[in-house]
This record gives sequence, C-alpha cells and structure tokens, in this order.
Amino acid sequence: MDISKYKIEHNSNFKLSDIETDQTGKFDSKDEAERQLAQNVQRMEELQSKLYAQDKYALLIIFQAMDTAGKDGAIKHVMSGLNPQGTHVHSFKQPSAEELDHDYLWRAVKNLPERGTIGIFNRSYYEDVLVVRVHDLVKTQQIPKEFITDDIWKDRFRQIRDFERYLYENGIITLKFFLHISKDEQKKRLLERIDDRIKNWKFSTADIHEREYWNDYQRCYQETIAETSTKQAPWYVIPSDKKWFARLMVSEVIVKTLELLRLEYPFVSKEQEKILNECRQNLLNEE
Ligand code: ATP
Ligand code: MG
Repeated sequence: MDISKYKIEHNSNFKLSDIETDQTGKFDSKDEAERQLAQNVQRMEELQSKLYAQDKYALLIIFQAMDTAGKDGAIKHVMSGLNPQGTHVHSFKQPSAEELDHDYLWRAVKNLPERGTIGIFNRSYYEDVLVVRVHDLVKTQQIPKEFITDDIWKDRFRQIRDFERYLYENGIITLKFFLHISKDEQKKRLLERIDDRIKNWKFSTADIHEREYWNDYQRCYQETIAETSTKQAPWYVIPSDKKWFARLMVSEVIVKTLELLRLEYPFVSKEQEKILNECRQNLLNEE
C-alpha cells in the first residue's frame, strides 16, 4: 500500500480541502480492509516485541482530529494486539492549573514513552497551536507579555520542530496522524450520538460549540501540518470518513515506520552464549 500519498512534506502548499475525506484507496470492501488490519496488528506485535527487547528506540504516536473523527476507535483497534506492558496512552484535556503554571511542552515531556515502548498521545501539545489559537487563549495564560507577539505561532512551530528533532536524535521517533473527516460526516456522527441511546454518553454539547469554528480549525490544522511535518517527524493526513480505512492506514504507517528501524533481538555474544550453556547444564543436572 502506498502510504506516501498521505504523508505531508515540510512547508508544502497542500490544501486540506483537496484531500477527499471519503477515499478508501484500492479497497472497496470493509472485510478486505479488516483482514489486512488484522495482519498488520500481528506484524506490529512482532515488531513491538523486538522494540521492547532492544530497549533503544521509543515510538511516539500522536493523534489529532476534529471531534468525532475516531481517535479513540483508531487507538483501540490499532493497538489491540500490542503488549500492554510496552504501551501507554495519554489523553490531553484542558490544562490544569498546575499544567498552566509550566511551559506548554511540560506535560508532554512528563508522558513521553520510555525506550522500548510505544507512547500514544490522544491530542497533544499540538492543541497549543490549535484550540489555543482558534480561541485566542494565549492571552488568558501566564506567558510574559513580551512573548505574545504576532509571531507566536511561527515561534511555536519552530519550537515543536526543534523538540521533535531533539526527540528523534535521542531515539524517540514521532509519528503524527490527522484523522480527516468532512463537516457532513461530523454532523452525521453527532446526530447518531443524539439519536442512538447507546451512544448518548459520547455526546457533548461542547462539540456542537467547537463545530461552529470548523473553518478556523481547518485553517489552523493546515498551517500547523505544513509547518511541522518534517523528515524526522512526519504528519499523515488520513481520510477518515470510513473508519475501517482510517484504521488500516494508521496501522500501515506504524508497521512501515517500525520496519524502517530494522529492529532485531539483542545479539548474544560468545561469552553470553557460554553462560547460557552453563545455565542449561546446571538446570539439566538438577536432582
Ligand atoms: P472524546 O470527546 O472522544 O472523549 P476528546 O479528546 O475530545 O475525546 P474531551 O475531554 O472531549 O476529549 O476534550 C478535551 C478538550 O480539551 C478538547 O476540546 C481540547 O481541545 C481541549 N484541550 C486540550 N489541550 C488543550 C490546551 N492546551 N488548551 C486548551 N484546551 C485544550
Ligand atoms: Mg470531545
């Protein structure tokens, strides 16, 4: 499968609105995609096991999206085969008073994955150039006035690029997914949450309020993605009107990224091999 189609180049002039949210690549059936997803999940499990044994790299996977786009479902399905010991999911909500008392990357740094593990961010520090920008929240925060200039977003894009590069050069690989849905699809899903009693708990009036800022969000996402997609930490814009296609593409990108790391179980030296043989003999000679 060609994942490069969904990868955004740094500073490219891509338009979010040009990317069709309901495309399904070469797949025309859900069944076929689900079979492929199951294979990818299995492959991910093997790769994760090596990642854990090797204990050198970590993978940070960021999910960003408009409400109802399917972040939770993608995380649940794609991660279903992984060893819970080697994964950690962290959700970024409105910052607490303690979090606001720090720089905006602080709470992300605290939740970075350890070597050998996969960390998933459900939303992330990208909220600080998205919701914070759309609602002009920066003025309500405690940043010294002299740093709140017209350049603040450009500055933050640079800070984020530098941060992700720092992570990369320390063995923490960042992958970023924007689950791209249409405004119509969101409407459909919001209505489902109202009409289907089993889905009522998922409905939030806040989502209706945020929907009013749809175009602002799309503009901010577009700029953010173009500015912060880098070779070391690329953004993938995943068409997500069809959840099964989005989940498959996410799994595909994760597998391909892990494969590029050429993960192997740690090499056993001649000396360690000798120790293993001795241990085997001792065990076999037990009374
Ligand atoms: P779901 O609705 O599926 O549970 P969610 O990610 O939308 O998932 P919510 O608790 O509904 O979770 O919303 C979290 C809210 O917190 C979002 O509206 C998000 O924009 C907001 N948020 C996250 N980070 C920040 C931030 N730094 N500043 C302000 N708001 C933030
Ligand atoms: Mg929500």
